[in-house]
Amino acid sequence: MDIYIVKDKIYLEHGADPYHPENPNRLKRIYGMLEELDGEGITYIKPRMATHEEIGLNHDMDYIDEIASTKGKERRLDPDTATSPKSYEAACMAVGGVLELVDRIMEEKTHVGFALVRPPGHHAEHNRAMGFCIFNNVAVAARYLQKKYGLNRMLVVDFDLHHGNGTQHSFYRDPEILYFSTHQYPYYPGTGHYTEIGEGRGKGYTVNVPLSYGMGDADFIYIFEELLVPISDRYKPEFVLVSAGFDTHINDPLGSMRVTEGGFAAMTRILLSIAKTHCKEKTLFALEGGYNLDGLTNSVKAVILEMTGESIYPFKKEQSPSSQVKEIVKTVKGTLKDYWTGL
Ligand SMILES: [Zn+2]
Repeated sequence: MDIYIVKDKIYLEHGADPYHPENPNRLKRIYGMLEELDGEGITYIKPRMATHEEIGLNHDMDYIDEIASTKGKERRLDPDTATSPKSYEAACMAVGGVLELVDRIMEEKTHVGFALVRPPGHHAEHNRAMGFCIFNNVAVAARYLQKKYGLNRMLVVDFDLHHGNGTQHSFYRDPEILYFSTHQYPYYPGTGHYTEIGEGRGKGYTVNVPLSYGMGDADFIYIFEELLVPISDRYKPEFVLVSAGFDTHINDPLGSMRVTEGGFAAMTRILLSIAKTHCKEKTLFALEGGYNLDGLTNSVKAVILEMTGESIYPFKKEQSPSSQVKEIVKTVKGTLKDYWTGL
């Protein structure tokens, strides 16, 4: 199958500290891996700068101006997040890369793509940077789909190790964007309890699956099969957006999960199958975390090969889900049963 990939040198210009986990070497390694792929079926897309108006679909203008004022400067935005002279440009290009990918997926024949961008986005709130994130790339994309294309059922799946507080808060009262997150809990950033299910008209459209450490491939696949697939079958998304973080990898230095390349491939297969069933495969992955360079690179490769249909990791059902994951899935189902019949 043909797919799109967003890549650009500008994403290597944000954050110069090699000792910061979210540093340019992450994408350098991934881009190097791409050169080793035969390129069959892959169309590379050049990103563009997102305008302030576009970023403003999810962020306050005062905040955007504040980030614009860091142009050419090093400034600390939060304990974990700092700018380098090119960060403002990279952040606008990260949003713009994702929006360019949205346009291609909506307007052309190829419907699957991966935006390999940084800085990542899911912790960014409407008015502040947080947890390595400046602008919330995926949240802006969902608002853009809503505004430009009039979609009103978007599924955002966030399988990063951390809870996407920024994304959750953007859509907490909005039934047009369903936010589904798996994450280590309790852990940074502290949000993502299973009782956080949305408010007002958005009640039931936030699904949190908080997990204790040590969860592996079979656990994540179980969550997807038992919760994500049935909810998606009711919701019938018109577009699937994925906050793809690989810090649940077994070798990741920030997390304590045990997901392997094969697990990410299997999760991708399920996500693509949801999109195939409901929205002609319209699926956009955007890179979030992942800090073990080998684990990150090999996992992104596994996802890309899954997208192009050259799967190298057929999932073998030799593992079974843990008793902890069965318990939390049961709890989440109980919490949401009034909103999603058949859970
Ligand atoms: Zn993360």
